[in-house]
Amino acid sequence: MSNIKNVTVLGTGVLGSQIAYQTAFSGFKVTAYDISDEILAKAKERFEGLASTYQADGVAGAAEGKADAALTHITYSSELAAAVADADLVIEAIPEVLALKQQTYEQLGKVAPAKTIFATNSSTLLPSDLKDFTGRPARFLALHFANQVWKFNTAEVMGTADTDPAVFDEVVAFAGEIGMVAIPIHKEKAGYVLNSLLVPFLNAGYALAAGGYADPKDIDNVWRIATGAPMGPFQITDIIGLTTPYNILSQSGEGKQLGQWLKENYIDKGKLGVATGEGFYTYDAK
Ligand code: NAD
Repeated sequence: MSNIKNVTVLGTGVLGSQIAYQTAFSGFKVTAYDISDEILAKAKERFEGLASTYQADGVAGAAEGKADAALTHITYSSELAAAVADADLVIEAIPEVLALKQQTYEQLGKVAPAKTIFATNSSTLLPSDLKDFTGRPARFLALHFANQVWKFNTAEVMGTADTDPAVFDEVVAFAGEIGMVAIPIHKEKAGYVLNSLLVPFLNAGYALAAGGYADPKDIDNVWRIATGAPMGPFQITDIIGLTTPYNILSQSGEGKQLGQWLKENYIDKGKLGVATGEGFYTYDAK
């Protein structure tokens, strides 16, 4: 068991709100921190939305009062020092902007108690890019969640060479306590395990379709039938939304052409995936 009791989440956007709610749902005391009270008012609505989603998705215990009880475990703050005053763990889920994260860790390092562990949920930055700004590299590491944490419950744990192994173990234990399957990563790797596998897989699918070798539905079919996997690359892309892979491809030299193929054939036609009712497949409007 971990010694973590009080958790502060920095940023209450898409992932921060899910991490905060899942932690509260698991019985921890959570402080949700964001930059203004207006944003925190929106966060409160997000948490109420998550309480309904947990019930609708049949998360164990949600309909029996746990989903509503979680809302009472969350307090709100737009004052960083107050938000972290008694935090055992701070999970940072602010925008993926290096300078913003570095600046935030500099402030956080000054106001947080010495006991506090810091964890970043960054998808593309390495914890090494941030560790020197924390003032406590031994108590800093990455704890990376997947979108829709209540269903896709992996938590990749990745430290730097400076992370104290006891802190690493503590965060692995905490991840289990909030219902995640912890995936320890033994040395730093951009993309962690998930994106190191997923990104080349999706790109291989796009290259087959864009090159005219086979249609997206048939590519998904062969993958599903021949391997027993539940979804092919285009079904997965529809769930992620086509904009994220487009943004990643546009920033890579070799991937630009595939990004252009996604844009011209799908994105420019409003086919962005499940969220817009159509991507490579069509979906019932919610
Ligand atoms: P988001 O834009 O939805 O939310 C960011 C939140 O941070 C906003 O509420 C914003 O007001 C707040 N914020 C901005 N500046 C801040 C500051 N200085 N201090 C505190 N809060 C601040 O972003 P997101 O999609 O939730 O992503 C957050 C992090 O999680 C990123 O590092 C991203 O790489 C990572 N991540 C995202 C996903 C995903 O699917 N969206 C998945 C895994 C990891």
